[in-house]
Order: sequence, then structure tokens, then C-alpha cells
Amino acid sequence: MPEYVIVGGGPAGHSAARTLSEEGAQDILLLSRDPDPPYDRTAVTKGYLRGETSHDEVLLGALDGVDLRVRTSVTKVDTGGHTVTLADRSEASYGKLLLATGANVHRLRVDGAALEGIHYLRTLRTADEVREDAEGAGHVLLVGGSYIATEVAASLTAIGKRCTIVMLEEVVLERTFGKQAGGYFQRVLTDHGVEIHPKQELARFEGEGRVSTAVMQSGDRYEADVVVVGAGVQPDVSLARAAGLDLGERGGVLVDARLRTSAPDVWAAGDIAEYESVVHGGDRLRIEHWDVAETQGHTAGLSMLGRDQVHDVIPYFFSDLADWTSMEYIGQAYSWTEEIVRGSIDDAEFTIYYIDGDRLAGALSVGRGDDLERARELLVSRQPVDRAELAG
Ligand SMILES: Cc1cc2nc3c(=O)[nH]c(=O)nc-3n(C[C@H](O)[C@H](O)[C@H](O)COP(=O)(O)OP(=O)(O)OC[C@H]3O[C@@H](n4cnc5c(N)ncnc54)[C@H](O)[C@@H]3O)c2cc1C
Repeated sequence: MPEYVIVGGGPAGHSAARTLSEEGAQDILLLSRDPDPPYDRTAVTKGYLRGETSHDEVLLGALDGVDLRVRTSVTKVDTGGHTVTLADRSEASYGKLLLATGANVHRLRVDGAALEGIHYLRTLRTADEVREDAEGAGHVLLVGGSYIATEVAASLTAIGKRCTIVMLEEVVLERTFGKQAGGYFQRVLTDHGVEIHPKQELARFEGEGRVSTAVMQSGDRYEADVVVVGAGVQPDVSLARAAGLDLGERGGVLVDARLRTSAPDVWAAGDIAEYESVVHGGDRLRIEHWDVAETQGHTAGLSMLGRDQVHDVIPYFFSDLADWTSMEYIGQAYSWTEEIVRGSIDDAEFTIYYIDGDRLAGALSVGRGDDLERARELLVSRQPVDRAELAG
């Protein structure tokens, strides 16, 4: 019987398995329904989509001493009996279980949504499909103003495609990073030829078998040979819910600071984990970032080994628009009352500090990564900010 069973081969599951193995644990079983072994999902919208990074280059490190089974879906968790059921109806017992099932894309429910040529990007296979489909396409339409849609627009434009973004927002990325940062990224995109249509709500797709046009609620129509939708994700808590685990207000699996769920011997990490963040005064957070999933997998691995390990890592996010611009972000500002800019947005060298009341909630940097060190100190200390010092 495997002592440690991990469900999910994303960064959280991979990192937990690696941690357990490096710490000398035995009998580790990693189950993933993905056909590929664990890989760098962030490349799906970046180098891999552009064809600059090969399949082998995006694979995460091999896991010594771990029984990795891909194309293997877990259909049920019995927390009382300490077993998981697989799609082939076989069962595996566990001593300790980690759920790291990640997220599912939010699918649009409009007329024409099932037409060919409409894609959702999450896996390497979906990136292959988009690239293949976009090969002969004149117009690629991106639905959404999120980092997925903007990264895909940049990558496909960089390989010679004509890309148009339609979105509900006024400027891209404004929901997560505000209008100042969003305005900067929007300028970068339009300067490189991406057409952007803000405040547009999709009404339906039209086409004969295959999509040809996207029609907006406003009546505006956009040509679309290929569509890529980036309309957010939902944490995949189906196994956890069916197993009776407590869920949180942010839609995730409730875990404490040690990433333990409400069931004995069951942990959760990554996109599904709604965790008590000790570096945010115990606030409950659920974050969909690569680094958060990776570091939480490490924390969960140690916690599963019985170490008194809380997850005390400041959240970190990065995004690239082709090789045009890159950003880094730390913290987690769900809302904020003020933005302080250091440096110059016009010169593409700036940091935006997101202030909530008197405290720093997050900081985004383009070309000024060193500023994030001070931001990190402020996020940890939770001291009131000195606005003049931050503005520089
Ligand atoms: C295209 C794309 C680009 C991204 N780019 C960035 C970026 O630039 N920067 C950044 O910080 N973040 C980025 N992210 C977000 C980041 O990749 C995610 O936050 C991270 O992958 C979450 O890791 P996870 O381990 O929780 O889940 P996932 O990576 O989603 O992995 C979940 C795993 O669980 C498996 N699984 C699910 N259910 C079952 C089941 N029942 N049985 C067996 N296996 C199951 C899945 O097959 C998958 O292997 C990006 C995400 C996407 C989709």
C-alpha cells in the first residue's frame, strides 16, 4: 500500500512528490489524468505556443522513487476508508493523501460555442491544437482581457498572426492589476499590432460547422478563423466536494496554515487550496499562480511528513507578453484603495504599489525587480507604508 498518494501532476503535486522523495520517504504514488508527465504549464501560452520551446524542454524534473501514473483519473476519495478509486474501478489505499487537482477552464455558454475552431488553453495538447489550427488562419480572436488572452495574443502576433482581443474590461488586466498597469500592457499590445476592443460582451459565435464570426451584444461583429477563450478558471474541487471536505467562500478546499483539509490525513495544495495565510494575518486566500502551487506542494510534502510546517511564502506571479515586456507581482491585493507609482510607466520601468488603507497589499514591477525586495519586507512586517519613500 502506498503511504503517500498525490492526486494531480501539476506543480503542486510534482513539488510535493519531489519533496517527499528528497526527504527520504518511500511508497509515493503520483496520479495524474494528464497524458503528459508533469510539465511547465506557464509555457503553454508562451515559448511552447510560439514553437520556441520543445515538449521535452518544458517537462519538469524526473521524480526518483516516485510511482508516476499518467492518464490515470481518480474518481473517488473515501476519507474514512483511506482509499482512492481510479477510473478503471481499481482502488488504492493511502496513509496520507494530497489533493492537487488544479483548475478547469470556464467554458462560455453562448450560441455557437460548440463550433470548431474555438479553443480553451490549459494543457500542452491544447497549445498544439491552437498552433495547428492557427497555421492557416487570417484572424485569431481572443475573448477576455486576462493574462491568458493577452499572453496568447502576444505569442501568436509574434509568430505572424493577426490578433484581436474583445473583452468586458476597459483595459486589459485591470481586474487584477488596475487601470494604470493595464493601460501600460494594453499600449504594449497595440503598439505591436494587436487590435483591442474594450467593453464588448460576446453574444454568440456564427459559422457553418466552423467558427467564422463573433457577434457582440453591441451588434459589432468580428471575423474569427480561430478563437481562443481566456475567461477564467474554476478550482477543480469535484473530488473534494464528493468526499465531504469543507469548502471555502472562494470556491476552494478549506485548509489550515499547514495545508491540512477538514479530513484526517488529507492535504490540499495549489489552485484548489483556500488556505490560511500566516503572512496575511491569517486571511484566507486562494491563488492561481505557478509559484504558489509549487511552494505549497513543498509545504504540503513536509507537512505530510509530520513536520510542523506552515505555508509562510509571499505569493509571487510573473507574466510575459512575448519578448516585448515582462512583469512580476508579489502579494495578493483582492482590492486596494490607492496605487503609488515608482519610476516611469511611459519608460516601461516602474513599480506600482497597491495600498489598502495604510498597508501594502501587493506590488507589480516592470523592469524594476529590485523594488520588490522592499515590498516583500513591507508585506511581511505589515507596517504602515511611508508613501514618499515608496514613490522614491
Ligand atoms: C496556460 C496557462 C499559463 C499560465 N501562466 C502562468 C504564468 O505565467 N505565471 C503564473 O504564475 N501562473 C501561470 N499560470 C497558472 C499556473 O500554471 C497554475 O496556477 C498552476 O499550474 C496550478 O498548479 P496546480 O498544481 O494547483 O494545478 P494544475 O497545474 O492545474 O495541475 C492539476 C493536475 O491535476 C490533474 N487532475 C485533476 N483532477 C484529477 C483527477 N481526478 N485525477 C487525476 N488527476 C487529476 C490534472 O490532470 C493536472 O495534472 C498559467 C496557467 C495556465 C493554464
